[in-house]
Amino acid sequence: MTLAQQLAHTLGRSRRDFLRDAAGLVVGSSLLSASPLVRGAVAQKKRKTIVITFGGGARDQETFAPEGRENIPNLLKELIPQSSFFTQVVNQGILGHYVATASLATGVYETLNNFSAVPPQHPTVFEYFRKDLHRPLSDAWVVAPSNGFNRIGESDYRSFGPGMGARVVLPKHLLGAAMSGSATDYDHLLRDNYETPLYAPQLAGGEFELQQLEMILKLSVDDFKAHARTVSSPDELSMFIARRLMHQESPSLLWITMHDIDIAHAGAYSLYVDAIRRTDRLCAEFWKAVQSEPEYAGNTTLFILPDFGRDGDQDSGGNGFQHHRTGDVASRTTWMMALGAGVRPGVVYDHPMQSIDLVPTLGAMMGFSPSLCRGKVIQELV
Ligand SMILES: [Zn+2]
Repeated sequence: MTLAQQLAHTLGRSRRDFLRDAAGLVVGSSLLSASPLVRGAVAQKKRKTIVITFGGGARDQETFAPEGRENIPNLLKELIPQSSFFTQVVNQGILGHYVATASLATGVYETLNNFSAVPPQHPTVFEYFRKDLHRPLSDAWVVAPSNGFNRIGESDYRSFGPGMGARVVLPKHLLGAAMSGSATDYDHLLRDNYETPLYAPQLAGGEFELQQLEMILKLSVDDFKAHARTVSSPDELSMFIARRLMHQESPSLLWITMHDIDIAHAGAYSLYVDAIRRTDRLCAEFWKAVQSEPEYAGNTTLFILPDFGRDGDQDSGGNGFQHHRTGDVASRTTWMMALGAGVRPGVVYDHPMQSIDLVPTLGAMMGFSPSLCRGKVIQELV
C-alpha cells in the first residue's frame, strides 16, 4: 500500500466510524449485495435513476466528522439512514469541475481542458443509456451550473456522439436569457463559476432555448423570473428546474450538478459553510419531491456524490478549504451514497473504489453496457 492509499484508507475508516455513530449505519461486508426482494419489486422499464453531484467539494471537517455534523443534519437524519454509503471513493483524475464531472459521466478519467467548451472524449452514460435501451431524447437530461457544462450531454466519440446524448439545461443561462441583458436583481444567481472570472464561454447554438421554457417546462418567462426572485442561490434555481423536468418530462436518467459550495474559492469560510448547509437541505427536499411525483415514487434510485474534495489544512501547497489544487488525499478521497429502489438501506462500506465506477454501476443497474468505460461495477449495488 502506498502512503496515499493508507491515508485514503484512514479517511474512509474515520467516515465509516462517524456514520456508524451519527446515523446508526451498520458496517457492510463486501459480500452483502442489494436486497433481491427490493430489486425484484422494481419493474425494469419504469426504473428511474437520478445522480446529484454534491456541490463542488466539501471537506470532512465541515461534513462527515464530529465537528462538521451540524452542517449536514438532513443528510444524517433523513437520507443516510436510507442509504448504502461508500466512504472511500478516490478520484485519480484532473481536479477541475467540468473535466471531473465529465469523467463521472463517462467512466473514464477525461483529459480535456477544464476551461474549454469541448465535449467529453468518451461516450457518456447518457449515450450508452439511450443507444442500448432505445430511449428517446426526452428520457435523459442534465441540469448544470455554468455555461462551461454546456457540452456535457454527449461526446464526439465515433458511433456515439451528436444526437445520442442528453439534453442539457443551464438554469443560469436560462435566467440570463429571460432577463435579456437588462440590469437585474439576480446577479447573485448569474455568476458563471467560482474558479475564474476569465472563463465564461458565450453559448451559441444547441442550448436550451427560451421557447422550450414554455414548451417543455410549461413555465412562462414571467413565472420563471418571479420564482427566481424567491430563491437564494443557483443550486436552488437548479433544483426548481429539475423538479419541473421531472413533472413535465419524467426522464428516466436525470443528472443534476450542484455547485454552490464551490463559492469557497472566494475565500469566505462562512459562505462555504452556508453553501454546505443549503446543499444538505436541497438534497433532502429534492428526495421528498421525488417521492411526491407518481412517475418516480418507489421506483427511483438516487446517487449523491461530490466530483472531488477540497484541500486539507496541512498541505503547504494549498490554502485549506479554499481550493482543490494540491491533489492531496483530502481533495481526492470523496464518498458516495445511493438510496431508493434496489439499494440496501443503512449500510456503510469503506473499501476503496473510484469515481469512474459510477457509470458501469449505472449500466449494471439499468441494463445497458458502457463498453468503453474503465471503472468497475460496485457489487454492493447490483
Ligand atoms: Zn472549484
